[in-house]
Amino acid sequence: MNDNIIIIRYGELHLKGKNRGFFEKMLIDNIRKALEGVECKTRFNRSRYEVFDYTDEIEIIERLKKVFGIHSISVAKKCAADIDAICEVVKGYASEMSGTFKVNTNRADKRYPFTSVEVSAKAGGAILSVNHKLGVDVHNPQIIINVDIREDGCAYIFKDKIACAGGMPVGTAGKGMLLLSGGLDSPVAAYMMAKRGLKLTAIHFHSYPYTSEMAKQKVIDLARILVDYTGPMDLICIPFTKIQEEIHKYCESNYMITIVRRFMMRIAERVAKLNNCGCLVNGESLAQVASQTLHSITVTNDIVKSMPIFRPCIGMDKQEIIEISYKIKTYETSILPYEDCCTVFLPDSPVTRPTIIKAEIEERKMGDFEPLIKEAIENREIIHIEKI
Ligand code: ATP
Ligand code: MG
Repeated sequence: MNDNIIIIRYGELHLKGKNRGFFEKMLIDNIRKALEGVECKTRFNRSRYEVFDYTDEIEIIERLKKVFGIHSISVAKKCAADIDAICEVVKGYASEMSGTFKVNTNRADKRYPFTSVEVSAKAGGAILSVNHKLGVDVHNPQIIINVDIREDGCAYIFKDKIACAGGMPVGTAGKGMLLLSGGLDSPVAAYMMAKRGLKLTAIHFHSYPYTSEMAKQKVIDLARILVDYTGPMDLICIPFTKIQEEIHKYCESNYMITIVRRFMMRIAERVAKLNNCGCLVNGESLAQVASQTLHSITVTNDIVKSMPIFRPCIGMDKQEIIEISYKIKTYETSILPYEDCCTVFLPDSPVTRPTIIKAEIEERKMGDFEPLIKEAIENREIIHIEKI
């Protein structure tokens, strides 16, 4: 068992005034879920959240780094708020330190017999008594040792602040339906919206046997990586083969992708409502491909009337998206070569300047497509994705 305590600091939560309690509760629920299965205890200690009585520090830190709403964490040593005890603890850091340092004291207990400056001076002296090679630099130190004297008669001493993901706790910004393909962009879009506090349900369209089981498995694997950030998530798989075949049969081939996208939007909006989602999320990036020109986006966007579509990658270069996908570890899975249903019946030259009127004319050639949509939704498969 480890005597250390991990102090968790919130990001933007302090901005939320009256709602603070709601944000805090959501964050704590998310922290508890993220730490499920690792040995530890957690508690609230005067508006700070702490993890203690644990064994695997590295695992806990890795997990906390993925919880949105946490700004930074520190591994602290706790002792009685007694000056000699504090000096003993800081001495423990001295031998592994090099270069310049300063001690920063924060005194919540104003009745404490020494001022912050006095505590810092005594603690600094204790460090120098162990390691003479160190220099003190109060303006630009290489290392900061923090001493936090609390009102409960304890002191917390820590060296580093480990930067975490920031953002808002997942679940505090409502629910969204993520259009998840097997590519690079939509998992990154998921990460970015979860970071703003959106709880996600994913929808995936597959065209078996034109697309393989492997293609679907790849999306399940991506969702498994994403749940580290999003929390448990339902992945709703929609059989899309029949609709694509009908589009292929009746509509002009250069409008194929445009119309496929419009059907995805129709279905996604309805399934979103069935799941109490208030927005759609996709991985579109302006001008990345023919289906993502301003004209194309206008024509697909036109389908969805009852909720916004969030496109967090819209202004990002591919390279920027790739960098995030490395960071969140979806890259290796995303680049596996299994085909997406968008590549089925791919025309030689998709339109880059489609119009809504022309798309509607083409769709009318399919006759009444409502039964097709209903059937696809009825036959949806729901896969619940949890952390492994
Ligand atoms: P991605 O890398 O996310 O696959 P992409 O660059 O391949 O994106 P498109 O294939 O044009 O771009 O897809 C644009 C967006 O449409 C995707 O980011 C995703 O949100 C959605 N999408 C595409 N195909 C599917 C699918 N089979 N199921 C669910 N959503 C999809
Ligand atoms: Mg794709």
